[in-house]
Amino acid sequence: MTDLSQSVQFLKGVGEARAQNLATLGIETIEDLLGYYPFRYEDIQERRIEEIDDQEKVTIKGVVVAPPVVTRFGYKKSLLKFRMMQDHAVFNVSFFNQPYLKDKVVLGEDLAVYGKWDAKKMALTGMKILGSGQQGDFAPIYHVSQKVKQKTLIPLIRQAFTDFGDQINENLPRSLREKYRLMDRHDAMFAMHFPKNPAEHHQAKRRVVFEEFFLFQMKLQGLKQQEKSTANGLAIQYDNTRLKQFISKLPFQLTDAQKRVTNEICRDLKSPQHMQRLLQGDVGSGKTVVAAIVLYATVTAGFQGALMVPTEILAQQHMESLNGLFDPLEVRVALLTGSTPTKERKSILAELAAGEIDIVVGTHALIQEGVVFRNLGLVITDEQHRFGVNQRRVLREKGWRPDVLFMTATPIPRTLAITAYGEMDVSIIDELPAGRIPIETRWVRPGQLDSVLDWSFRELSAGHQMYVICPLIEESEMLDVKNATEIYEHLKAFYAKQEYQVGLLHGRMKNQEKEAIMEEFKDGKTKILVSTTVIEVGVNVPNATVMLIMDADRFGLAQLHQLRGRVGRGAEASYCILVADPKNEYGQERMKIMTETNNGFVLSEKDLELRGPGEVFGFRQSGLPQFVAGDLVADATILEVAREEAAAIWQLPNWQVLPEYQGLAQVLAAPEKQFFD
Ligand code: ADP
Ligand code: MG
Repeated sequence: MTDLSQSVQFLKGVGEARAQNLATLGIETIEDLLGYYPFRYEDIQERRIEEIDDQEKVTIKGVVVAPPVVTRFGYKKSLLKFRMMQDHAVFNVSFFNQPYLKDKVVLGEDLAVYGKWDAKKMALTGMKILGSGQQGDFAPIYHVSQKVKQKTLIPLIRQAFTDFGDQINENLPRSLREKYRLMDRHDAMFAMHFPKNPAEHHQAKRRVVFEEFFLFQMKLQGLKQQEKSTANGLAIQYDNTRLKQFISKLPFQLTDAQKRVTNEICRDLKSPQHMQRLLQGDVGSGKTVVAAIVLYATVTAGFQGALMVPTEILAQQHMESLNGLFDPLEVRVALLTGSTPTKERKSILAELAAGEIDIVVGTHALIQEGVVFRNLGLVITDEQHRFGVNQRRVLREKGWRPDVLFMTATPIPRTLAITAYGEMDVSIIDELPAGRIPIETRWVRPGQLDSVLDWSFRELSAGHQMYVICPLIEESEMLDVKNATEIYEHLKAFYAKQEYQVGLLHGRMKNQEKEAIMEEFKDGKTKILVSTTVIEVGVNVPNATVMLIMDADRFGLAQLHQLRGRVGRGAEASYCILVADPKNEYGQERMKIMTETNNGFVLSEKDLELRGPGEVFGFRQSGLPQFVAGDLVADATILEVAREEAAAIWQLPNWQVLPEYQGLAQVLAAPEKQFFD
């Protein structure tokens, strides 16, 4: 145990009560305190008084040139007055009813005062005293609580540096510090609290962020290395001849990208190493068939496969497409979801345990208790951004070591992929099947809805179908339904003459009802499907060519892109119409960018920029670590560099024993509470 991991109670002036108060801020050890960085700094600029506007609120620095005098008058009223000088200009400062500030004003010393400037009278009506101005123009401001105030915290941090600063060990190798001109660890930590100037703060922050990202990457890549070095997975020896036959019988030629990722996955299946692979591909790029191929491969090796999806509708649909591709005599597929009737569930479970079912498709009910496989070889999760860390953990905790493939149509910006899935290998389908015509996206105002509907006749009379999406209304599910129902009624009336059937799908319906309505749409019985976002992910009806999204500004970019991906799945030209009257700039920007690009990666980068990683991913679900200093968006370049450098070190055989890396090896060996969990 190093001294830094001791309780803050080892600091003078910190007893049990204060330690408890500090703990509510997450500060338990000396190290916590040293690393409790300010979230901003009071930026006391050097403002010259002749340049300050009349009545401007401003901080002015100067020297106290006349001693403070307090005059009391009336009941509890007082006036504190003194004079300051900046360069050669002298001015008056007065504070009302704060006589106690007198002690802070010392003749002949520097002072920074915040207040309202009166240019004519050359006087400042003071509101706050910001200290001597000597501890920098840059005063730290911390997140504090009722019980721990700024003025308690700052001296404690100073004291911690005085008493324990020499225990702060360097953990970055010298070569890296030199290469990137990074400050020494102690100095950087100190300057994070008490920078002399903005430039010094910038350097300190650069060092601290680099360290944070770099250590994280060292851990992550260490884990990956560990996975690789031990043969702890299954070697799925699939039958290559049968697999080739299966692929040749598919209704279409695979794209080059599909072939490439299939090879990558198959190589992993065969190897005894445990596969953890992320398959990324924009909507419509054809991930499902890749899943089918590798599931088939797994079955030819005598193993079982599972395909997990976030919604029942999607499970149903995948089940159907798999059954369409497999010969039912050769591969047995079952569907298991939360709404599978008890009796059926029982028999499916029995058959799974006996190995009579080869592939099971389902929602997360699949990994719940009571499900036992005879020999599970491959788990595929579709749309895994909905599939949280928790579910992944459940798999692990069951002691299953199947190969795992995560599929996602939400292209993950590179910075996030590196961070959240750095321990995984990544395959990317970067090509759409040939013959697809890019979807044309238009943004219209609500008042133009009926002219859009007029236009839609062209598509509908050509035999195509249309989705109409209504947003979820957060406050109440009832409102969603009402909203969707109103639009449904409006459309029914609108298309009554043509006798176009309109369907309605919303979250309050029972699963069977939903399925029936989906089925009617797939069969083309209903031409128009009004839906809340239950159809968001994965639904595949290639005959639908129009996606009409109501109140589109209520959706995030990723979601809009997903929804748009429901059309443009066949060889016909398709359209996405966004109906929105965005109240703010962000909304407008989102609508605009949707009309400008069909590229999911571009959109997700933009989304990240507009909303930040927490919003885009939802921290709890995502498995994204919380960084203290680093910002995944603003510091993306540092993250990239840190990752490359970490990879370079892991390339060195036994780097841990090299003298240069002793500091690093030590931190990595220490138990870590910060990153994982
Ligand atoms: P996603 O990647 O969004 O899951 P899907 O797997 O649902 O995409 O595929 C979208 C559509 O493209 C489906 O109708 C599928 O049958 C079709 N498809 C997939 N691969 C090809 C291909 N190589 N050539 C032509 N059509 C394909
Ligand atoms: Mg899909």
